[in-house]
Order: sequence, then C-alpha cells, then structure tokens
Amino acid sequence: MLPWVVHRTRLPLLSRRCVDCPSGSATTGDGRFRVNANGKLLDVWLLVRCVRCDRTSKLTVHERTPVASFDPAELHGYHVNDGRLVASTLLDPALARRNRFALDWTDAWRLDATPVPLGEAWPIRVEVVLRDPIPVRPDRLVARGLGLSRAEVERRVKCDVPMRRSRIAGFAFTLMSVR
Ligand SMILES: [Zn+2]
Repeated sequence: MLPWVVHRTRLPLLSRRCVDCPSGSATTGDGRFRVNANGKLLDVWLLVRCVRCDRTSKLTVHERTPVASFDPAELHGYHVNDGRLVASTLLDPALARRNRFALDWTDAWRLDATPVPLGEAWPIRVEVVLRDPIPVRPDRLVARGLGLSRAEVERRVKCDVPMRRSRIAGFAFTLMSVR
C-alpha cells in the first residue's frame, strides 16, 4: 500500500461577498479573535477582512455563551489568537453554515504522492489520507499524483469511491498496470 497525503499549506480564503466592494473573497490574515464579555456571557468572533478593500468583518463563533461553559484552554486560545484554534475554528463546517460563507481551497493545499517504486508488483494499491477536511475530486487528484490524463486515470484506475464527486475524506484506489 502506497501512502499519499494531502496537506494544508495555508488557511483557505473565504468566499463571501464584501458589503463595501465587489470582491467575493476574504481572509483571516494572521488570525485574530475578538472576545466581548457581557456579565457572565461571552461573545467570540473571528475577524476576517476583504482581500480587496481591507474592510474587516466579524464571524460569530460563540454568541452569549456562559463563561463557565468554556474550556479554560480554549478561552485562553481566543485571547492570545492561538493559530491552531484559528485554523480549527475556520475549518469547522458549523462556522461556515452560521456565517454563510464557503471555503476557497485554491492553492491552499499540496499533495505528497509517493512515486510508484520501480519493479513494484502490479496492481498497486494507493491510500490517500486527508490531513484536513479539504474537498478533493478523486479523479483530478489521482491524475495529478500519477501525472496521467483523466482519460488514462479512467482506464487504469479502480477506485473505491465515486471518482467525480468531491469529498473531504480519504479513499483508496488500485492502479491496474503501467500502460
Ligand atoms: Zn471589500
């Protein structure tokens, strides 16, 4: 079994219409939260800005949530703008649903494809692991990793999942022969 791994290389952009300009793209930049206390309730936002006009807007992460219900480490992370917390917050599908945006993964990931060793016995099984919930289309990913056209992929690859449907989970495929 050959391992292939899909890595995130940076945070994805957000597809989201700006209220001030025609841009449809926003970024978390360095990643900043804003925490606002109101009595024993907290609001937490993730700040994003338009890539074109820099207008900053707030995405709701927690709304009027009792302070006592927060994990102290998580709360600390919001206060110090912890990078891992920024990433996990942005990639949580619940945030996108609540704030009506989609993630734009263009150029934000990389495929590390182990080359097929010479003299390997055919057929060859490859397992693709996704380290982050990055939507990939198996046919495109396999074509890229093997340096084949999509027509060749269709002929030579047997995949365990539908190849033309984007997915955010790993999968495995079998490469049938060299030619
Ligand atoms: Zn703008």
